[in-house]
Amino acid sequence: QTALRTIRTFQKSSFLARLASTLAILEQREGGLNSASLGAVTAGQKIGGSIHGFVAGKNIKGVAEQAAKVKGLEKIITVENEAYERGLPENYAPLLVENIKKGGYTHVIVGSSAFGKSVLPRVAALLDVQPLTDVMEIQSEDTFTRPIYAGNAILTVQSSDPIKILTVRQTSFPPAEQEGGSASIEEGTDPKAECPTQWVSENLAKSDRPELATAEKVVSGGRGLKSKEEFDRLIPPLADALGAAIGASRAAVDSGFADNSLQVGQTGKNVAPQLYLCAGISGAIQHLAGMKDSKVIACINKDADAPIFQVADVGLVGDLFEKVPELTEKLKA
Ligand code: FAD
Repeated sequence: QTALRTIRTFQKSSFLARLASTLAILEQREGGLNSASLGAVTAGQKIGGSIHGFVAGKNIKGVAEQAAKVKGLEKIITVENEAYERGLPENYAPLLVENIKKGGYTHVIVGSSAFGKSVLPRVAALLDVQPLTDVMEIQSEDTFTRPIYAGNAILTVQSSDPIKILTVRQTSFPPAEQEGGSASIEEGTDPKAECPTQWVSENLAKSDRPELATAEKVVSGGRGLKSKEEFDRLIPPLADALGAAIGASRAAVDSGFADNSLQVGQTGKNVAPQLYLCAGISGAIQHLAGMKDSKVIACINKDADAPIFQVADVGLVGDLFEKVPELTEKLKA
């Protein structure tokens, strides 16, 4: 009986894998493919079946050619229209819905980026299915794991929706390889939906440091730094000595010590670097939700009972105003 069940399960899964077809939404900006969005392709590979990439915007020929080389993609669907250049969810969602229906996809995947998080729920609403956000693991074509309660519990969800709409954590699905693929490029459908929202301008924080969400090392500061002046005096030199990106707790951001693009946590960015070093951060669950997948967690805190020590691999109990400059000098030497 067990053998029969195994065969049936195998038949079912290989049948479904054959039928599964995924549309992976690829983000682009001014003619460059955003490699972080290629985690959607990696997630599609775990589902099995065919995977098509989707790109839309202005002058996207180059991006489409770049995407065609991504390993694992069979086809790239493109829609050339300036209206989609900025990824406004109001017109991007109907665009996706048209192309999902045309392609008959069983799965639609996008990274849990600001773009993914705003466009996919709209797509799910238009298709009348339940979106699955922040997916961390794909167990099978209909079963996924995702965090709840700020990452304190992990939920296993089985979806019976005909189309599974997923946003995937970029820290859980590394970008697919950008070489070795030879996908065909095909024009998609453009519904030319009216857009009630207009893109006016943006003010991007520019930094020579590594991008926080994808950095190998992150140095974060919290409320313990006491002021913006102290944050700026202590955290950037330590980050520079390590070649790290800078992060901050929400308390540090709310107190004006750091820009909100640097916030790590439930309502900030998710990071999973090789090293996460933080000073003056207590380790509230909402902060841990954004960094506890880091490979090595190191912390400096004067309170030996601070919860951050419970997740830290290396902890130093001490005054950060002494320890951070000392560590920076030692690293420089
Ligand atoms: P505190 O908790 O005040 O900790 C400061 C730490 O610094 C203390 O542990 C103290 O011992 C230490 N310290 C003080 N002086 C020194 C010194 N001289 N030397 C060494 N150590 C010192 N928080 C986030 O970070 N990210 C989020 O995304 C986020 N989202 C949230 C969402 C919701 C819905 C809610 C309700 C809260 C959220 N929070 C988030 C806030 C979170 O609950 C905490 O308030 C916040 O993380 C605390 O930041 P902190 O650790 O810097 O400050």
